Amino acid sequence: MIIVLKHDATPEQVEDLRCWIRCHDLDVQTIKGDHQSVLVVIGDADRLDVSYVEDLDTVSYVKSVSQPYKLAGRAFRCEDTVIDIGSVKIGGGHFAMIAGPCSVESRRQMLSIASEVKAAGASLLRGGAFKPRTSPYSFQGLGESAIPLLVEAGRANAMPIVSEITDKSQLDLFEEVDLIQVGARNMQNFELLKELGRLNKPILLKRGWANTVKELLTSSEYIMKGGNERVILCERGIRTFEPYTRNTLDLSAVAVVKDLSHLPIIVDPSHATGHAKYIEAMSLAAVAAGADGLMIEVHDDPAQSKCDAAQAITPDQFGQIAQKVKAVRAVISAFLTSPVGYAIIFQRQCAEVPKRPKGLPC
Ligand code: PEP
Ligand code: MN
Repeated sequence: MIIVLKHDATPEQVEDLRCWIRCHDLDVQTIKGDHQSVLVVIGDADRLDVSYVEDLDTVSYVKSVSQPYKLAGRAFRCEDTVIDIGSVKIGGGHFAMIAGPCSVESRRQMLSIASEVKAAGASLLRGGAFKPRTSPYSFQGLGESAIPLLVEAGRANAMPIVSEITDKSQLDLFEEVDLIQVGARNMQNFELLKELGRLNKPILLKRGWANTVKELLTSSEYIMKGGNERVILCERGIRTFEPYTRNTLDLSAVAVVKDLSHLPIIVDPSHATGHAKYIEAMSLAAVAAGADGLMIEVHDDPAQSKCDAAQAITPDQFGQIAQKVKAVRAVISAFLTSPVGYAIIFQRQCAEVPKRPKGLPC
């Protein structure tokens, strides 16, 4: 952290501030300028209350130089993280398709959708047991009884399963769930995140519709700080003034996360658009943007879906999207390994070398 002092700060005031900083077990160096002096705080500056420092009479402004997401950020880990979920890998070049209904409705429905999405190219099966609905009068999910149905359908088709937890009291029920989802509404449920940080199980953390990428990364930090570093992020659209889609898919978040973090990021075009007809276009765009996977809501009879019917696609439609996703990935990979692609990457890396700050591990 760098604290730029006001030009009229007296030596006594500066010394008081230096003392206060040192009381937090931090080192501080003073750089004296002609008009203004600067204090450089060395150590974990998160221990200081930035707003308090900013409001001091002696302080002109404060600049943070480190990111608040030390474990999720690339500063100390350059390589992309690969997350294993049973036999499936996500991240670091491994791409996964997650498919299944918004909510588990019956044994028949789960077994039928599971085998169809598996045949169409899905590697993980999703299904909500506890549905966080905006209205208390909407279908709330089958709850506890849904989990064994999801487990059975997943195991019968050799697919790891994903389901959303809405409260830490449900943790015991999720023992057999391979990937625990934290939904958009719970992205900042810090007590839940801390609890998930104690598990030895991957977590799918969805971005809240009113949260920044920085907040998404600091939420992932809550899980990682507890010791569970197996976090997959998910962009699922943010709320904007655009009414034609349920949310606005922020694909730039994929590029930003890739830049700032080593964690995998997948895209959920279903909740982002809210309409079955837009899911294919957004899936292909997400792949081109560099997403590590897709999560798509699939129903064997969308019109009868108890939850999010407008965005549900059929297993056939999912199969068509999966084929096109494969094709886009093949084109991108062929380009990147071609002489032209190689030259572009090589040029970009050469251009980046001199800009890299000295002393950073990567
Ligand atoms: C879901 O994936 O079932 C869901 C409710 O999504 P979100 O939390 O993104 O709204
Ligand atoms: Mn849904």
